[in-house]
Amino acid sequence: MNAAVFRCTTEDCKHEVKVILSHWTIDEPTKCELCGASHSFQIIHNDCQFSDRQVLKLQETPELVPDGETPQNVAVVVFDDLVNQVRPGDRVQVTGIYRAAPVQRIRSWRMCSSVYRTYVDAIALEYTKRVEAPAMDHLVLSQDTALPKLSEERAV
Ligand SMILES: [Zn+2]
Repeated sequence: MNAAVFRCTTEDCKHEVKVILSHWTIDEPTKCELCGASHSFQIIHNDCQFSDRQVLKLQETPELVPDGETPQNVAVVVFDDLVNQVRPGDRVQVTGIYRAAPVQRIRSWRMCSSVYRTYVDAIALEYTKRVEAPAMDHLVLSQDTALPKLSEERAV
């Protein structure tokens, strides 16, 4: 999520506030500027703005693994224009930041686990070998340039 939209739940107010996220946290507004009510905001998920994110499973090149060992894996997180750029089987070189994130067993728990999972936040991907692309001629891509809001009802 890049930006969250909150709406005041007070009757006849329905004031909307857009909050830009910083460091993956949402600062929920506590007081409504319009009607003065406190803690009256509710998040409107369908009006929030999101960016593309994809988790790739990167495996060590099998030829470079010593005999008797199995290839190691690492999760690679890609964002925005790096999403859907690689296909299964592609050989890639990844430049990124190796991160450790605490494993939280239950979302509502405030405590963090002492167990960490590791992953790579990708900055750049470089192909060393690409898998042949399947024929895409039959696919007609949408010409719409303006993306519809999720909350808009669309006739399908
Ligand atoms: Zn209000």
